[in-house]
Amino acid sequence: MTAAPLATVDAATAPRKPRLVMKFGGTSVRDVDRIRHAALKVRREVERGYDVAVVVSAMAGETNKLVDWVREAAAAPGERAAFYDAREYDAVVASGELVTAGLMALALQQIGVPARSWQGWQVPLVANAAHGAARIERIETAALEQKFAEGLHAVIAGFQGVSPEGRVATLGRGGSDTSAVAFAAALGAERCDIYTDVDGVYTTDPRLEPRARKLDRISYEEMLELASLGAKVLQTRSVELAMRHRVRVNVLSSFEDGPGTLVCAEEEIMESKVVSGVAFQRDEAKVTLLGVADRPGVAASVFGPLAEAGVNVDMIVQNISEDGLTDMTFSTAADDLERATATLEAARAGIGFRGLVADRDVAKVSIVGIGMRSHAGVAQKMFAALAAEGVNIKVITTSEIKVSVLIDRKYLELAVRALHDAFELHAD
Ligand code: ADP
Ligand code: ASP
Ligand code: MG
Repeated sequence: MTAAPLATVDAATAPRKPRLVMKFGGTSVRDVDRIRHAALKVRREVERGYDVAVVVSAMAGETNKLVDWVREAAAAPGERAAFYDAREYDAVVASGELVTAGLMALALQQIGVPARSWQGWQVPLVANAAHGAARIERIETAALEQKFAEGLHAVIAGFQGVSPEGRVATLGRGGSDTSAVAFAAALGAERCDIYTDVDGVYTTDPRLEPRARKLDRISYEEMLELASLGAKVLQTRSVELAMRHRVRVNVLSSFEDGPGTLVCAEEEIMESKVVSGVAFQRDEAKVTLLGVADRPGVAASVFGPLAEAGVNVDMIVQNISEDGLTDMTFSTAADDLERATATLEAARAGIGFRGLVADRDVAKVSIVGIGMRSHAGVAQKMFAALAAEGVNIKVITTSEIKVSVLIDRKYLELAVRALHDAFELHAD
Protein backbone atom coordinates (compact mmCIF):
# COMPACT_ATOMS: atom_id res chain seq x y z
CA MET A 1 0.00 0.00 0.00
CA THR A 2 1.34 3.42 -0.77
CA ALA A 3 0.85 6.15 1.77
CA ALA A 4 -1.07 9.24 0.78
CA PRO A 5 1.29 12.22 0.40
CA LEU A 6 1.38 14.32 3.55
CA ALA A 7 1.20 17.55 1.65
CA THR A 8 0.97 18.48 -1.98
CA VAL A 9 3.48 21.02 -3.17
CA ASP A 10 2.16 24.55 -3.08
CA ALA A 11 2.71 25.95 -6.57
CA ALA A 12 2.61 29.50 -5.28
CA THR A 13 5.58 29.06 -2.95
CA ALA A 14 7.64 26.43 -4.78
CA PRO A 15 10.75 27.86 -6.44
CA ARG A 16 9.98 28.48 -10.10
CA LYS A 17 12.17 27.03 -12.81
CA PRO A 18 12.46 28.75 -16.18
CA ARG A 19 9.84 27.49 -18.58
CA LEU A 20 9.90 26.45 -22.19
CA VAL A 21 7.20 25.57 -24.69
CA MET A 22 8.19 23.01 -27.34
CA LYS A 23 5.71 22.41 -30.16
CA PHE A 24 5.98 19.43 -32.51
CA GLY A 25 4.08 19.53 -35.81
CA GLY A 26 2.53 16.64 -37.72
CA THR A 27 5.61 15.23 -39.45
CA SER A 28 7.56 15.51 -36.20
CA VAL A 29 5.10 13.10 -34.50
CA ARG A 30 4.10 11.09 -37.55
CA ASP A 31 4.78 7.72 -35.87
CA VAL A 32 5.97 6.35 -32.55
CA ASP A 33 9.59 6.46 -33.67
CA ARG A 34 9.36 10.18 -34.42
CA ILE A 35 7.60 10.73 -31.11
CA ARG A 36 10.49 9.00 -29.30
CA HIS A 37 12.92 11.21 -31.20
CA ALA A 38 10.98 14.34 -30.17
CA ALA A 39 10.87 13.09 -26.58
CA LEU A 40 14.68 13.01 -26.53
CA LYS A 41 14.72 16.67 -27.52
CA VAL A 42 12.37 17.40 -24.65
CA ARG A 43 14.55 15.49 -22.20
CA ARG A 44 17.55 17.54 -23.28
CA GLU A 45 15.73 20.75 -22.31
CA VAL A 46 14.50 19.21 -19.04
CA GLU A 47 18.11 18.37 -18.23
CA ARG A 48 19.02 22.00 -18.90
CA GLY A 49 16.71 22.93 -16.05
CA TYR A 50 13.46 23.88 -17.74
CA ASP A 51 9.89 23.04 -16.86
CA VAL A 52 8.62 22.08 -20.29
CA ALA A 53 5.14 22.32 -21.79
CA VAL A 54 5.16 20.18 -24.93
CA VAL A 55 2.41 21.06 -27.43
CA VAL A 56 1.67 18.41 -30.04
CA SER A 57 -0.13 18.27 -33.37
CA ALA A 58 -1.90 15.22 -34.74
CA MET A 59 0.22 12.72 -36.68
CA ALA A 60 0.87 13.90 -40.26
CA GLY A 61 -2.16 13.37 -42.49
CA GLU A 62 -4.43 12.48 -39.56
CA THR A 63 -6.40 15.74 -39.47
CA ASN A 64 -7.03 15.60 -43.23
CA LYS A 65 -8.35 12.08 -42.82
CA LEU A 66 -10.66 13.18 -40.02
CA VAL A 67 -11.96 16.14 -42.06
CA ASP A 68 -12.69 13.77 -44.94
CA TRP A 69 -14.66 11.49 -42.67
CA VAL A 70 -16.71 14.45 -41.42
CA ARG A 71 -17.59 15.47 -44.98
CA GLU A 72 -18.47 11.90 -45.85
CA ALA A 73 -20.66 11.30 -42.79
CA ALA A 74 -22.53 14.60 -43.22
CA ALA A 75 -23.53 13.80 -46.82
CA ALA A 76 -25.65 11.20 -48.57
CA PRO A 77 -23.75 8.01 -49.49
CA GLY A 78 -21.15 8.64 -52.17
CA GLU A 79 -21.17 12.42 -51.67
CA ARG A 80 -19.14 14.88 -49.62
CA ALA A 81 -20.83 17.68 -47.70
CA ALA A 82 -19.75 21.32 -48.11
CA PHE A 83 -21.70 22.33 -44.99
CA TYR A 84 -21.76 20.41 -41.70
CA ASP A 85 -22.39 20.88 -37.99
CA ALA A 86 -19.24 22.68 -36.83
CA ARG A 87 -19.59 21.38 -33.26
CA GLU A 88 -19.38 17.80 -34.46
CA TYR A 89 -16.59 18.67 -36.89
CA ASP A 90 -14.64 19.86 -33.85
CA ALA A 91 -15.54 16.76 -31.83
CA VAL A 92 -14.01 14.64 -34.59
CA VAL A 93 -10.98 16.62 -35.73
CA ALA A 94 -9.72 17.44 -32.24
CA SER A 95 -9.20 13.73 -31.62
CA GLY A 96 -5.95 13.51 -33.62
CA GLU A 97 -4.08 15.59 -31.06
CA LEU A 98 -5.42 13.51 -28.15
CA VAL A 99 -3.63 10.46 -29.48
CA THR A 100 -0.25 12.15 -29.90
CA ALA A 101 -0.48 13.86 -26.49
CA GLY A 102 -0.92 10.51 -24.73
CA LEU A 103 1.79 8.84 -26.80
CA MET A 104 4.25 11.66 -26.14
CA ALA A 105 3.60 11.48 -22.37
CA LEU A 106 4.28 7.73 -22.48
CA ALA A 107 7.45 8.19 -24.56
CA LEU A 108 8.70 10.78 -22.07
CA GLN A 109 7.96 8.57 -19.07
CA GLN A 110 9.77 5.74 -20.80
CA ILE A 111 13.01 7.78 -20.93
CA GLY A 112 12.68 8.94 -17.36
CA VAL A 113 10.93 12.29 -17.80
CA PRO A 114 7.86 12.53 -15.56
CA ALA A 115 5.07 13.81 -17.80
CA ARG A 116 1.30 14.02 -17.93
CA SER A 117 -0.93 14.67 -20.96
CA TRP A 118 -3.59 17.39 -21.02
CA GLN A 119 -6.53 17.72 -23.38
CA GLY A 120 -7.68 21.26 -24.15
CA TRP A 121 -10.64 21.15 -21.75
CA GLN A 122 -8.55 19.73 -18.91
CA VAL A 123 -6.16 22.67 -18.74
CA PRO A 124 -8.53 24.46 -19.51
CA LEU A 125 -7.76 26.52 -22.57
CA VAL A 126 -10.95 28.54 -22.92
CA ALA A 127 -11.91 29.49 -26.47
CA ASN A 128 -14.91 31.27 -27.95
CA ALA A 129 -17.76 29.46 -29.69
CA ALA A 130 -16.55 30.01 -33.27
CA HIS A 131 -16.26 26.26 -33.88
CA GLY A 132 -13.68 25.32 -36.49
CA ALA A 133 -11.82 28.63 -36.15
CA ALA A 134 -12.21 29.47 -32.46
CA ARG A 135 -10.18 32.19 -30.80
CA ILE A 136 -8.45 31.71 -27.49
CA GLU A 137 -9.99 33.76 -24.68
CA ARG A 138 -7.80 32.68 -21.78
CA ILE A 139 -5.72 29.84 -20.40
CA GLU A 140 -6.10 28.86 -16.76
CA THR A 141 -2.63 27.71 -15.85
CA ALA A 142 -3.07 26.96 -12.12
CA ALA A 143 -3.44 23.18 -12.49
CA LEU A 144 -0.49 22.95 -14.88
CA GLU A 145 1.66 25.03 -12.58
CA GLN A 146 0.75 22.84 -9.63
CA LYS A 147 1.99 19.85 -11.62
CA PHE A 148 5.19 21.67 -12.59
CA ALA A 149 5.79 22.29 -8.91
CA GLU A 150 5.35 18.55 -8.32
CA GLY A 151 7.97 17.85 -10.99
CA LEU A 152 5.62 16.80 -13.77
CA HIS A 153 6.16 18.17 -17.26
CA ALA A 154 3.10 18.81 -19.40
CA VAL A 155 2.15 17.42 -22.79
CA ILE A 156 -0.71 19.45 -24.22
CA ALA A 157 -2.96 18.51 -27.13
CA GLY A 158 -2.64 21.45 -29.53
CA PHE A 159 -5.30 22.95 -31.80
CA GLN A 160 -8.10 22.79 -29.24
CA GLY A 161 -9.85 24.38 -26.32
CA VAL A 162 -13.19 24.32 -24.59
CA SER A 163 -16.04 26.58 -25.70
CA PRO A 164 -18.17 28.60 -23.27
CA GLU A 165 -20.81 25.88 -23.46
CA GLY A 166 -18.30 23.22 -22.54
CA ARG A 167 -17.75 21.67 -25.95
CA VAL A 168 -14.43 21.08 -27.69
CA ALA A 169 -13.55 23.93 -30.05
CA THR A 170 -10.68 23.83 -32.56
CA LEU A 171 -8.52 26.78 -33.52
CA GLY A 172 -8.43 26.49 -37.33
CA ARG A 173 -6.02 24.47 -39.49
CA GLY A 174 -2.45 24.82 -38.33
CA GLY A 175 -3.78 25.89 -34.92
CA SER A 176 -1.27 24.00 -32.79
CA ASP A 177 1.18 26.83 -33.49
CA THR A 178 -1.31 29.19 -31.89
CA SER A 179 -1.82 26.88 -28.91
CA ALA A 180 1.94 26.80 -28.41
CA VAL A 181 2.42 30.57 -28.48
CA ALA A 182 -0.60 31.09 -26.22
CA PHE A 183 0.82 28.68 -23.64
CA ALA A 184 4.20 30.36 -23.86
CA ALA A 185 2.55 33.72 -23.12
CA ALA A 186 0.33 32.36 -20.34
CA LEU A 187 3.16 30.46 -18.63
CA GLY A 188 5.70 33.26 -19.03
CA ALA A 189 7.98 30.89 -20.97
CA GLU A 190 11.44 32.00 -21.94
CA ARG A 191 10.88 30.85 -25.53
CA CYS A 192 8.44 29.02 -27.74
CA ASP A 193 10.26 26.48 -29.92
CA ILE A 194 8.28 25.34 -32.97
CA TYR A 195 9.74 22.07 -34.30
CA THR A 196 8.75 21.30 -37.88
CA ASP A 197 9.96 19.63 -41.08
CA VAL A 198 12.06 22.58 -42.30
CA ASP A 199 14.95 24.07 -40.35
CA GLY A 200 13.55 27.58 -40.19
CA VAL A 201 11.68 30.31 -42.02
CA TYR A 202 12.93 30.73 -45.58
CA THR A 203 12.77 33.56 -48.09
CA THR A 204 10.05 31.48 -49.77
CA ASP A 205 8.72 27.93 -49.48
CA PRO A 206 11.86 25.83 -50.01
CA ARG A 207 9.71 23.11 -51.57
CA LEU A 208 8.95 25.43 -54.47
CA GLU A 209 12.29 27.23 -54.73
CA PRO A 210 15.23 25.06 -53.65
CA ARG A 211 17.47 28.13 -53.75
CA ALA A 212 15.48 29.78 -50.97
CA ARG A 213 17.62 31.01 -48.08
CA LYS A 214 17.01 30.39 -44.41
CA LEU A 215 16.58 33.59 -42.39
CA ASP A 216 18.38 33.85 -39.04
CA ARG A 217 15.81 36.32 -37.78
CA ILE A 218 12.55 37.75 -39.01
CA SER A 219 10.42 40.49 -37.48
CA TYR A 220 6.94 39.77 -36.16
CA GLU A 221 5.49 42.18 -38.72
CA GLU A 222 7.07 40.45 -41.69
CA MET A 223 6.26 36.97 -40.39
CA LEU A 224 2.67 38.04 -39.86
CA GLU A 225 2.40 39.18 -43.49
CA LEU A 226 4.16 36.08 -44.85
CA ALA A 227 1.90 33.79 -42.83
CA SER A 228 -1.30 35.57 -43.77
CA LEU A 229 -0.23 35.60 -47.43
CA GLY A 230 0.24 31.85 -47.52
CA ALA A 231 3.51 30.77 -45.82
CA LYS A 232 2.01 28.03 -43.69
CA VAL A 233 5.15 27.43 -41.63
CA LEU A 234 3.36 29.34 -38.83
CA GLN A 235 -0.37 29.89 -38.41
CA THR A 236 -1.15 33.61 -38.78
CA ARG A 237 -2.81 33.85 -35.40
CA SER A 238 0.22 32.40 -33.67
CA VAL A 239 2.31 35.29 -35.00
CA GLU A 240 -0.34 37.82 -34.00
CA LEU A 241 -0.27 36.46 -30.45
CA ALA A 242 3.52 36.32 -30.34
CA MET A 243 3.71 39.93 -31.46
CA ARG A 244 1.13 41.10 -28.93
CA HIS A 245 2.70 39.25 -26.01
CA ARG A 246 6.30 39.59 -27.22
CA VAL A 247 6.88 35.84 -27.19
CA ARG A 248 10.22 34.88 -28.74
CA VAL A 249 9.38 32.19 -31.27
CA ASN A 250 12.07 29.90 -32.64
CA VAL A 251 11.29 27.81 -35.75
CA LEU A 252 13.48 24.69 -35.85
CA SER A 253 13.83 21.32 -37.53
CA SER A 254 12.90 18.27 -35.50
CA PHE A 255 15.07 16.19 -37.84
CA GLU A 256 18.42 17.89 -37.39
CA ASP A 257 20.03 20.22 -34.85
CA GLY A 258 20.53 23.82 -35.92
CA PRO A 259 19.89 27.40 -34.85
CA GLY A 260 16.55 27.79 -36.72
CA THR A 261 14.92 31.16 -37.25
CA LEU A 262 14.05 33.55 -34.46
CA VAL A 263 10.83 35.54 -34.88
CA CYS A 264 11.38 38.68 -32.85
CA ALA A 265 10.92 42.43 -32.61
CA GLU A 266 12.14 44.60 -35.48
CA GLU A 267 14.64 46.34 -33.16
CA GLU A 268 16.49 43.05 -32.66
CA ILE A 269 17.31 42.76 -36.35
CA MET A 270 20.47 44.49 -37.48
CA GLU A 271 20.14 44.74 -41.22
CA SER A 272 17.34 43.69 -43.44
CA LYS A 273 16.77 43.63 -47.15
CA VAL A 274 14.06 45.72 -48.75
CA VAL A 275 12.16 42.53 -49.53
CA SER A 276 12.51 39.65 -47.06
CA GLY A 277 10.36 37.02 -48.65
CA VAL A 278 7.92 35.84 -51.28
CA ALA A 279 4.66 34.17 -50.20
CA PHE A 280 1.97 32.59 -52.29
CA GLN A 281 -1.51 31.15 -52.13
CA ARG A 282 -2.08 28.55 -54.80
CA ASP A 283 -5.81 28.00 -54.62
CA GLU A 284 -7.51 31.32 -55.17
CA ALA A 285 -10.56 32.24 -57.23
CA LYS A 286 -11.67 35.50 -58.82
CA VAL A 287 -15.24 36.70 -59.29
CA THR A 288 -16.29 39.64 -61.45
CA LEU A 289 -19.75 41.18 -61.33
CA LEU A 290 -20.49 42.89 -64.63
CA GLY A 291 -22.66 45.95 -65.01
CA VAL A 292 -23.15 46.91 -61.38
CA ALA A 293 -24.70 50.32 -60.70
CA ASP A 294 -22.11 52.95 -59.69
CA ARG A 295 -23.92 54.41 -56.68
CA PRO A 296 -23.51 54.54 -52.91
CA GLY A 297 -24.45 51.31 -51.15
CA VAL A 298 -23.63 48.92 -53.97
CA ALA A 299 -20.43 47.58 -52.42
CA ALA A 300 -22.33 46.96 -49.19
CA SER A 301 -25.07 45.12 -51.06
CA VAL A 302 -22.43 42.81 -52.60
CA PHE A 303 -20.13 42.21 -49.64
CA GLY A 304 -22.81 42.17 -46.92
CA PRO A 305 -24.39 38.88 -48.06
CA LEU A 306 -20.94 37.39 -48.72
CA ALA A 307 -19.85 38.18 -45.17
CA GLU A 308 -23.04 36.68 -43.79
CA ALA A 309 -22.39 33.52 -45.78
CA GLY A 310 -18.91 33.31 -44.24
CA VAL A 311 -17.09 33.95 -47.52
CA ASN A 312 -13.68 35.46 -46.86
CA VAL A 313 -13.14 38.18 -49.46
CA ASP A 314 -9.55 39.18 -50.06
CA MET A 315 -8.64 41.61 -52.87
CA ILE A 316 -11.29 43.97 -54.28
CA VAL A 317 -11.17 46.23 -57.34
CA GLN A 318 -13.81 48.37 -58.94
CA ASN A 319 -13.44 49.95 -62.36
CA ILE A 320 -14.43 53.50 -63.21
CA SER A 321 -17.85 53.80 -64.74
CA GLU A 322 -18.72 55.34 -68.08
CA ASP A 323 -22.47 55.05 -68.22
CA GLY A 324 -23.30 54.73 -64.54
CA LEU A 325 -22.41 51.04 -64.60
CA THR A 326 -19.16 49.45 -63.44
CA ASP A 327 -17.51 46.03 -63.02
CA MET A 328 -16.53 44.82 -59.59
CA THR A 329 -13.91 42.11 -59.06
CA PHE A 330 -12.88 40.31 -55.90
CA SER A 331 -10.82 37.29 -54.95
CA THR A 332 -11.51 34.55 -52.44
CA ALA A 333 -10.21 31.09 -51.57
CA ALA A 334 -11.07 28.54 -54.28
CA ASP A 335 -12.87 26.51 -51.60
CA ASP A 336 -15.27 29.42 -51.03
CA LEU A 337 -16.07 30.00 -54.70
CA GLU A 338 -19.19 27.87 -54.88
CA ARG A 339 -20.62 29.50 -51.79
CA ALA A 340 -19.72 32.98 -53.11
CA THR A 341 -21.42 32.55 -56.49
CA ALA A 342 -24.51 30.91 -54.98
CA THR A 343 -24.79 33.76 -52.46
CA LEU A 344 -24.47 36.44 -55.14
CA GLU A 345 -27.00 34.78 -57.44
CA ALA A 346 -29.42 34.62 -54.50
CA ALA A 347 -28.87 38.33 -53.81
CA ARG A 348 -28.97 39.31 -57.50
CA ALA A 349 -32.25 41.21 -57.36
CA GLY A 350 -31.02 43.37 -54.47
CA ILE A 351 -27.61 44.07 -56.02
CA GLY A 352 -28.52 44.33 -59.70
CA PHE A 353 -25.80 43.06 -62.05
CA ARG A 354 -25.69 42.03 -65.69
CA GLY A 355 -23.50 38.96 -65.35
CA LEU A 356 -21.10 37.05 -63.16
CA VAL A 357 -17.77 35.67 -64.36
CA ALA A 358 -15.86 33.24 -62.13
CA ASP A 359 -12.23 32.24 -62.62
CA ARG A 360 -11.11 29.34 -60.43
CA ASP A 361 -7.59 29.06 -61.83
CA VAL A 362 -5.79 31.94 -60.18
CA ALA A 363 -3.10 32.21 -57.52
CA LYS A 364 -1.78 35.04 -55.39
CA VAL A 365 1.89 35.94 -55.11
CA SER A 366 3.17 38.52 -52.64
CA ILE A 367 6.44 40.16 -51.72
CA VAL A 368 6.96 41.23 -48.11
CA GLY A 369 9.54 43.44 -46.44
CA ILE A 370 9.71 46.19 -43.83
CA GLY A 371 12.29 47.90 -46.03
CA MET A 372 9.46 48.82 -48.41
CA ARG A 373 8.38 51.53 -45.99
CA SER A 374 11.41 53.58 -46.91
CA HIS A 375 12.13 52.48 -50.49
CA ALA A 376 10.28 53.59 -53.58
CA GLY A 377 10.06 51.54 -56.76
CA VAL A 378 9.62 48.12 -55.17
CA ALA A 379 6.22 47.47 -56.76
CA GLN A 380 7.56 48.64 -60.11
CA LYS A 381 10.46 46.19 -59.85
CA MET A 382 8.00 43.41 -59.08
CA PHE A 383 5.79 44.22 -62.07
CA ALA A 384 8.80 44.43 -64.38
CA ALA A 385 10.10 41.04 -63.22
CA LEU A 386 6.71 39.46 -63.90
CA ALA A 387 6.38 41.20 -67.26
CA ALA A 388 9.81 39.88 -68.30
CA GLU A 389 8.43 36.35 -67.83
CA GLY A 390 5.22 37.18 -69.69
CA VAL A 391 3.08 36.83 -66.55
CA ASN A 392 -0.09 38.88 -66.75
CA ILE A 393 -1.30 40.57 -63.55
CA LYS A 394 -5.04 40.43 -62.93
CA VAL A 395 -5.42 42.27 -59.62
CA ILE A 396 -2.97 44.20 -57.42
CA THR A 397 -3.15 45.16 -53.75
CA THR A 398 -0.56 46.83 -51.58
CA SER A 399 0.00 47.70 -47.96
CA GLU A 400 2.87 49.37 -46.16
CA ILE A 401 5.09 46.29 -46.22
CA LYS A 402 3.70 44.08 -48.98
CA VAL A 403 2.57 43.98 -52.61
CA SER A 404 0.28 41.18 -53.80
CA VAL A 405 -0.76 40.22 -57.30
CA LEU A 406 -3.29 37.77 -58.64
CA ILE A 407 -2.09 35.76 -61.64
CA ASP A 408 -3.02 32.63 -63.60
CA ARG A 409 -2.25 29.59 -61.46
CA LYS A 410 -0.19 27.96 -64.19
CA TYR A 411 2.42 30.72 -63.82
CA LEU A 412 2.72 30.44 -60.04
CA GLU A 413 6.07 28.62 -59.84
CA LEU A 414 7.55 30.79 -62.57
CA ALA A 415 6.41 33.98 -60.84
CA VAL A 416 7.70 33.00 -57.39
CA ARG A 417 11.12 32.09 -58.79
CA ALA A 418 11.30 35.24 -60.92
CA LEU A 419 10.55 37.44 -57.91
CA HIS A 420 12.94 35.50 -55.70
CA ASP A 421 15.64 36.21 -58.29
CA ALA A 422 14.70 39.82 -58.94
CA PHE A 423 14.99 40.70 -55.26
CA GLU A 424 18.17 38.64 -54.85
CA LEU A 425 16.79 36.49 -52.07
CA HIS A 426 18.69 33.30 -52.85
CA ALA A 427 21.71 32.07 -50.92
CA ASP A 428 24.99 33.67 -52.04
P1 ADP B 1 3.89 21.37 -39.17
O1 ADP B 1 3.15 20.12 -39.48
O2 ADP B 1 5.19 21.11 -38.47
O3 ADP B 1 3.05 22.40 -38.50
P2 ADP B 1 3.54 22.73 -41.71
O4 ADP B 1 3.41 21.81 -42.86
O5 ADP B 1 2.31 23.33 -41.16
O6 ADP B 1 4.37 21.95 -40.58
O7 ADP B 1 4.56 23.93 -42.06
C1 ADP B 1 5.84 23.64 -42.55
C2 ADP B 1 5.86 23.81 -44.06
O8 ADP B 1 5.67 25.18 -44.40
C3 ADP B 1 7.17 23.47 -44.72
O9 ADP B 1 7.27 22.08 -44.99
C4 ADP B 1 7.18 24.32 -45.98
O10 ADP B 1 6.84 23.60 -47.14
C5 ADP B 1 6.08 25.35 -45.74
N1 ADP B 1 6.52 26.73 -45.96
C6 ADP B 1 5.82 27.65 -46.69
N2 ADP B 1 6.48 28.81 -46.74
C7 ADP B 1 7.60 28.64 -46.01
C8 ADP B 1 8.70 29.51 -45.69
N3 ADP B 1 8.75 30.79 -46.12
N4 ADP B 1 9.69 29.02 -44.92
C9 ADP B 1 9.67 27.75 -44.48
N5 ADP B 1 8.66 26.89 -44.76
C10 ADP B 1 7.64 27.33 -45.51
N1 ASP C 1 -3.57 19.02 -36.71
C1 ASP C 1 -4.09 20.32 -37.04
C2 ASP C 1 -4.00 20.56 -38.53
O1 ASP C 1 -3.54 19.70 -39.27
C3 ASP C 1 -3.42 21.42 -36.27
C4 ASP C 1 -1.93 21.57 -36.52
O2 ASP C 1 -1.27 20.65 -37.01
O3 ASP C 1 -1.40 22.64 -36.17
O4 ASP C 1 -4.45 21.57 -39.00
MG1 MG D 1 1.58 23.71 -39.26
